[in-house]
Amino acid sequence: MSEEEAYEFVKTTLSKEGIVPYAQDELKTVSSVEACINCGICINYCPVVRAVGVDMFTGPRSIAMELSRSPPEFWSCADKVYLCTGCGTCREVCPRRVDIPEVVNLVRSRVFSTRPDLVPKGLHLLREILLRHSLAFEPWADPADKADSRALRLERLGLPSIPDRIESGADILYFPGCQAEERAQEVREAAKLVLEHLGVRYTLMRDFNCCGLPARLMGDRATQQRLAEQIKTKIKSLGVREIVTTCAGCASNLSSVMDEMGLDIHVLHMVEFLFERIGIDRLSDEFRRASGSPVRVAVHDPCHLIRHISRVLAEHSLKILSCIPGVDVVLTGKSDSCCGGGGLVSHHSSVTADAVTRENVVAIFNAGAERVVAPCPLCTAQIERSMFRSDVAIEVDDLTVFIAQRLPLGGDSFAKV
Ligand code: SF4
Ligand code: SF4
Repeated sequence: MSEEEAYEFVKTTLSKEGIVPYAQDELKTVSSVEACINCGICINYCPVVRAVGVDMFTGPRSIAMELSRSPPEFWSCADKVYLCTGCGTCREVCPRRVDIPEVVNLVRSRVFSTRPDLVPKGLHLLREILLRHSLAFEPWADPADKADSRALRLERLGLPSIPDRIESGADILYFPGCQAEERAQEVREAAKLVLEHLGVRYTLMRDFNCCGLPARLMGDRATQQRLAEQIKTKIKSLGVREIVTTCAGCASNLSSVMDEMGLDIHVLHMVEFLFERIGIDRLSDEFRRASGSPVRVAVHDPCHLIRHISRVLAEHSLKILSCIPGVDVVLTGKSDSCCGGGGLVSHHSSVTADAVTRENVVAIFNAGAERVVAPCPLCTAQIERSMFRSDVAIEVDDLTVFIAQRLPLGGDSFAKV
């Protein structure tokens, strides 16, 4: 019997017992758990444990321990594994770098494939939308209503509207993500304005579709793969070599998707693009040519940027804000604390998500900030909702919108559209 035949034999035998052996690409995650020394440091830093207590969420260490069980027993941790926001704080503080967020994704995929009845209902609803529309949000029934909503948002922000650019031969693809495509449309429009103003040769994607992160997070590997294939086809037809996105989750997920698909396409968040490609000198010049009233701003750094990509992105955001005249950045001491909106937690347990956000809201309020900016529309929405529920009247902006409002928009750059 060859090695492949032996593997198939074992796989068939195990599947009769409801056991699915780990795939090759999962073994690295599984073996990372073996490094755990049971020190418990991760529990002290987990924002969900801090917000709701160990009785409701037993924390990263116990999730890590789940992988030492035999696969059919994963269902026993389904109630807690869906409460993890995937923030990555545990991995960052772990002395053995145990990759808990990936362990969570792996356990969720096993729960999804063996006991889908235990996946929270809110995630099944999200999956139905993904399957029907290839988007994480129900699209607008009437395009005219969507356009009206977009116009109202832009008017309120004092931003102009420009047409979409969809063309092959552009240098970069601007990828808004589902939230900015269907809900926070001002972020998508602000990104277009920023890129247009800076003279960047960009394009949007015809028939936008989700990057697949929600499917990955709920454990639905087949849908994740299908969405990634759709993206791949569209990117290839556009011929771009780089993707710029304003969503922190899309930035980290699309990087993984490009690697997994063997595509030599660089993915950058807008913050990286502005800092690394446009540069602080040019940005400072641009900001100096515009006017804006003084404002005290607090920053929120999305986990998907600073823990899943690089901490240096938090410095990029600060440096960009610091060169805008009149902007006084106030430090909250909690800018890197999870907003609670990740890991799909807000889709099925808004109580947990809001409890996590509360720490941010209190810190922002105590720092005396007049505004909060976050380089991600999902974090922005979660913090905004929590501010509203806590009766705190501090405005929350996406960073790209905040930047667009402080650029001297108009002039020759818009004539090209
Ligand atoms: S990823 Fe974040 S929420 Fe999840 S267990 Fe780790 S620290 Fe807790
Ligand atoms: S911090 Fe790391 S090594 Fe310590 S208990 Fe948590 S996962 Fe295990």
